[in-house]
Amino acid sequence: MIHPEIKLSHSSANNFCAKQLWYKKVGNEKFPINFYLGAGIIVDAGYEAGLKNIMTGIEGCNIRKSMEESLESIKNNLPYDEEIKLVESFDSHVQAVEAYMGWINYKPLETQYFFSLTFEGHTRPTTGYMDIVAERQNLPLIIDIKRQSKPAKKAKNDWIMQGALYALALMKQRNLTEIPKFENHLIIPDQPPVFLVTELTPEHLYMAYKLLTELNERIDKDYWPLNRTHSFCSPMWCAVYDKCHYDHFETVEKLLSKIS
Ligand code: SF4
Repeated sequence: MIHPEIKLSHSSANNFCAKQLWYKKVGNEKFPINFYLGAGIIVDAGYEAGLKNIMTGIEGCNIRKSMEESLESIKNNLPYDEEIKLVESFDSHVQAVEAYMGWINYKPLETQYFFSLTFEGHTRPTTGYMDIVAERQNLPLIIDIKRQSKPAKKAKNDWIMQGALYALALMKQRNLTEIPKFENHLIIPDQPPVFLVTELTPEHLYMAYKLLTELNERIDKDYWPLNRTHSFCSPMWCAVYDKCHYDHFETVEKLLSKIS
């Protein structure tokens, strides 16, 4: 089997460029943490600490301290200018997480809930972590946290596919017959959090499965097409931009020579 080490996941199935995924998974290129990823990581550490206090009933975790430790652990992996931006905005992320804790209207059961499953016909497992598995009015609820810079009115398609995969995983693991509730909670500096409710449908669940199936087929065929027309194909969003353009280019003369 080709690339047995590559597992399927929501982020891989939704990666905007298959070639970029190849550089990450096969080419072993380093993709440094940028400001956005870094802010997401420290926010994760903060709400996890806060939810742990609720789940255990003990105020054992300090949100700010957990976020400081998280910032310390990633600081050296950021380019200098991104690190400065993250350090300067740190207090606003702490305040946003602390504010979020005041809006919690659910019973948290698990954070960073790991799952691994293999669909029939797939040659590799699908794995992932759900941010929060919870209950509201005794009904199962999956929550995915998004750190955002401004409010949004509805969930992006990509976020919905993520929720649909998590719903499938939770239904299988817990023998649920109904599709669980799914929400994106947006944690936004200097703004109240936004709770986006998505009613997941069987079509959403099918599409989440289909994206994984197509990714599985592409990996099995070792097929990793470029996506140079995408707006994220830029030095800002692709750490291998120069390398990719060096690796994948042919001169006009070469192209003309291919025409019979
Ligand atoms: S430079 Fe563009 S085509 Fe190449 S890997 Fe990056 S995003 Fe994909």
